[in-house]
Amino acid sequence: MTPGPTLIRRCLHCQGLLKQRNIRGRHGLRRPVWSDEALGAPMFPEASSLVACAHCRAVVWGPELEKVDSYASPMRYSQFFDTENKYEKEREEIRLKEILYEEVPFFEAPTEEQLFSYINSTSLPSNKELQVRGIAWRTGNDKRRTGTCDIPFSARETDNLARLVDLLNHHLDHEPVIRAEALRELGRMDEAKSLIETCTTPSAQDEVAQFILERILEGDTYVREITHDPDRQWRLLRRVRAQHEATIALPTHDLSGPPPFAITSRDWWFKVVGMLCHNWALIETEADGSVVVYFFHDQGKTRSGLPQYSGRQLRGRAAIVDSLPFSSVRQAERALRTNGFRRLEDDPGPWEGEQPTGIFFDARATEEGVYSRGEYWTHPN
Ligand SMILES: [Zn+2]
Repeated sequence: MTPGPTLIRRCLHCQGLLKQRNIRGRHGLRRPVWSDEALGAPMFPEASSLVACAHCRAVVWGPELEKVDSYASPMRYSQFFDTENKYEKEREEIRLKEILYEEVPFFEAPTEEQLFSYINSTSLPSNKELQVRGIAWRTGNDKRRTGTCDIPFSARETDNLARLVDLLNHHLDHEPVIRAEALRELGRMDEAKSLIETCTTPSAQDEVAQFILERILEGDTYVREITHDPDRQWRLLRRVRAQHEATIALPTHDLSGPPPFAITSRDWWFKVVGMLCHNWALIETEADGSVVVYFFHDQGKTRSGLPQYSGRQLRGRAAIVDSLPFSSVRQAERALRTNGFRRLEDDPGPWEGEQPTGIFFDARATEEGVYSRGEYWTHPN
């Protein structure tokens, strides 16, 4: 971050002078941390473009104010070894201007109050209205970034945000994730959820979008600091993959292959059994109320093979390689956990994508019965 020149501008309402300090490289260093600020959407400029005049309190667009003078930062020259006093003259000029404009107040960020009265007093073109409402939203949220108790939206904030959502809707390069965040804070969870889930832009498939989606699913409407969660990327991957799979048709099956075996559950459990090697399980409640856990290898492959079927006949199918009976789902879950299995939904990770897909068939008669034989299975106490 290097200090840029200081600009002297004139307020168009009161003719008073204002100082604007430019800091270069701010964009690159600023890390998104809050859910409402996370996305540097192109239509939301730096909040500093809208300023409050320190003299007349008017809200004005900083870059539109008349430029009266400017001077470079003295720090710029202190960076060089100036043995020949080469920059002495420039330094002196800067020093004089600093004295001349010493009393001139700096640009100030408008308060929430000032922003709302500005919106209500002026008729703005929609692209500017969008910017002001976006800044008003974030400025209003500043009071929620500190402190311990939740502050609900005022009626004014709710109206502003609802209007912002409408404007974003009509804006050509609208950013779906920031709109989803606005909808979330308005409590319009169904709209917010479907917006993220159906959107295929890169921003809807990054970790910020995932963070916002997870708050939506929790029913949380509050502005939140984006925390670090190393597992979030796996949950994101899982979601994006499921979204993608929903759009591809299942492979066609060769009807001469092994007869299909119906299991309705796709709530996968997995166990890491070695480097890139996992066992998979599904808990199925049968029609008679009994519970069976079915086991699979990675991608539904068999160990022993099925000599009576060709590869073509087995394409798009997954082999059930073992099973164990239980008296209840709870008992089955407990036994799976005791034996090192975890639920994929709770614990997505690099094993994602190794679970069996396609239609199931029964290969228990020719497989080794890895768990039912008892050697690799521990009964919980
Ligand atoms: Zn002014």
